[in-house]
Amino acid sequence: MTADQHEPVGGPGEGAAAAFAGPAAPVPSPAAADSGGTGPGARLLAVQAHDTAIDQLRHRLVTLPARAELQAAEASLAGLRATAGILQAQHQELSASQAELERQIDAAKQRRQQIEARMRSGHVTAARDLTAMDDEVRHLGEHVTALEDRELELMEALEPVDTELAGLSASIAALQLAADGARAAAAEAEAEIAGTVRSEEELRRQAAEAVAPSLLEQYERIRARGGGVGAAPLVGNACGGCHLTLPSMEVDRIRKAPPDTVVTCDQCGRILVR
Ligand SMILES: [Zn+2]
Repeated sequence: MTADQHEPVGGPGEGAAAAFAGPAAPVPSPAAADSGGTGPGARLLAVQAHDTAIDQLRHRLVTLPARAELQAAEASLAGLRATAGILQAQHQELSASQAELERQIDAAKQRRQQIEARMRSGHVTAARDLTAMDDEVRHLGEHVTALEDRELELMEALEPVDTELAGLSASIAALQLAADGARAAAAEAEAEIAGTVRSEEELRRQAAEAVAPSLLEQYERIRARGGGVGAAPLVGNACGGCHLTLPSMEVDRIRKAPPDTVVTCDQCGRILVR
């Protein structure tokens, strides 16, 4: 890991400069120079690189596309299921009415058959009775026709409900598959990221052990208010944290400062590693 590998996640600092500008306490470190990649600055940048990596992994964890897909699919599923529930209630109501009509039609037909059988039996001979029975048979016939017309209307009303329900069932099944896929993909990605976070945290712990506690504490304080970036390399004449170009005199002062001196950026307050 070199000093230049880390990518700052934050923008320019917010008024933190005043408190942290200029040279600060010397770093108690056995290293004579921090510009060769093994000094306190380089070690601090290694901690910063791990912190940045962990921050980015955690950001990936909460912005996983599969998780967003799953949420969208679940929201759509909820909507489709609500619609299907309304249609199912309509289907049940219409079906119940149809069943009741069929029961009435059967009863009327049965009654008509009984009367017709009696008329044919020869037991009823009075003309007045036969005429009354004939009237009832005709009346029952008209009743059955009316009931059957009503049943036909119900069946016509049922048809679009059932068609829409079938379409909804297919959509729900497809969305369910998509949701299951997204759920599995999200879980897999989350497990993988969590594993990488754990190993980065261990590497960060090891890297932090090589940094003086006071410098680490200062770094963490600045990082907390610096959008995740507490230390940045001096890149040419620019601060690698806020990317602003520093005055030549300031750069000169920084470069000439004793190696064990902690220097911060006047603009953003971050620790500048030169
Ligand atoms: Zn800066």
